[in-house]
Amino acid sequence: MTQSPIWHPFTQHAIAGDMIPIERGAGAYLYTPDGRRILDGISSWWVTTHGHAHPRIARAIKAQADKLDQVIFAGFTHEPAETLARALIELTPPQLTRVFFSDSGSTAVEVALKMALGTWHHEGAATRTRVAVMEHSYHGDTIGAMSVGARGVFNRPYAPLLFDVDVIPFPVAGREQDTLDALDALCRAHPDGVAALIVEPLVLGAGGMLMYRPETLADLKRICERFGVVFIADEVMTGWGRTGTLFACEQAGVAPDILCTSKGLTGGFVPLAATLCQERFFSAHYGMERARMFFHSSSYTANPVACAAAVANIEIWRDEPVMERIAAIAAGHGARLAVLAEDARFENLRQAGTIAALDIRVRDEGYLSDVAPRLYRHFLERDVLLRPLGNTVYVLPPYAATEGDLDEIYAAIAAAPDVLGL
Ligand SMILES: *Cc1c(COP(=O)(O)O)cnc(C)c1O
Repeated sequence: MTQSPIWHPFTQHAIAGDMIPIERGAGAYLYTPDGRRILDGISSWWVTTHGHAHPRIARAIKAQADKLDQVIFAGFTHEPAETLARALIELTPPQLTRVFFSDSGSTAVEVALKMALGTWHHEGAATRTRVAVMEHSYHGDTIGAMSVGARGVFNRPYAPLLFDVDVIPFPVAGREQDTLDALDALCRAHPDGVAALIVEPLVLGAGGMLMYRPETLADLKRICERFGVVFIADEVMTGWGRTGTLFACEQAGVAPDILCTSKGLTGGFVPLAATLCQERFFSAHYGMERARMFFHSSSYTANPVACAAAVANIEIWRDEPVMERIAAIAAGHGARLAVLAEDARFENLRQAGTIAALDIRVRDEGYLSDVAPRLYRHFLERDVLLRPLGNTVYVLPPYAATEGDLDEIYAAIAAAPDVLGL
């Protein structure tokens, strides 16, 4: 085969080796053309919810593609988008009344930031421009989304393009008050300056599957309310059942001002995102002057095929025992983590619903830099797809995963330290 011209994401091609071709997927499995079966322990980068190639979503996509492929979404609308928007409003807190469609988690975040800043601007509070963010957070890879995420080797070259943000510490268990105090102090120092706080509710994904208590999320929201700061929940990863509830904010009883959803929105089939907001943000952009409109769009905004996939996804939530599957996976994680908790080779075992994570104790610090790719290869040799973040191994399976699948995944994890000599 001639060399592929494809430049893959998050891939160092000099050391990555050949990409694994995948021909089809079913349930929790991916299949190569030569019949190898790989257990997808990370839901193909956190997007696949029910399982690969769920027939109901596949059928909805086919039917919609035959009917209406795409239509400009300024000046026009269509049934799949209208149905989906109403369903999203019904599934989320009553305070959220408006839905803006885009096509990825990053753009959902960009839209949220623009909604917040645009609203302050149109409300005559143009000094409200500071954005508060949580340490170790990740909100996407476009320039604005990178700006509100953690800085590191992955965005150092672009640092001159990133805008300044105010970072509050991650709420480490037992030291949550430090985080709350930092937000409080920031808001007091800049009473007319802080526009918004953006957070990943309960679980910081790419930052290392770091978890914090729902009570802390509720406390952060209360501080935002006290100082009139817009509270943006980035539920791009945590949404659609990952943390045990449909959205993670539910566990804190928090109704965000703005909510971003993507990844699991179409069940993981096709790209689509939505930024939901309270009426205030829509109202601030509403008026007889054209200059007040929300100046944002992407070519495929509310693509009908993607919306039809999302509608089918929501029908699955309605008609199938999705919550029972999620509860079973959560219980399955719990039982297996309890066993590994007795094992000195692992530490910081943690869980939020269907997401489980642990850190492998690495005796030799020198191993830390390349432990992730070595673990990755170890798992793949056992036909399990896990993609560790440093020495953090996490499991985030599609809800089609069975007890047997979890056994396979945890056996591979238990074997890893000794196989790799960590
Ligand atoms: C993945 C992710 C994003 C970015 O989504 P893309 O679709 O990759 O642009 C944003 N926020 C969070 C919390 C994510 O996990």
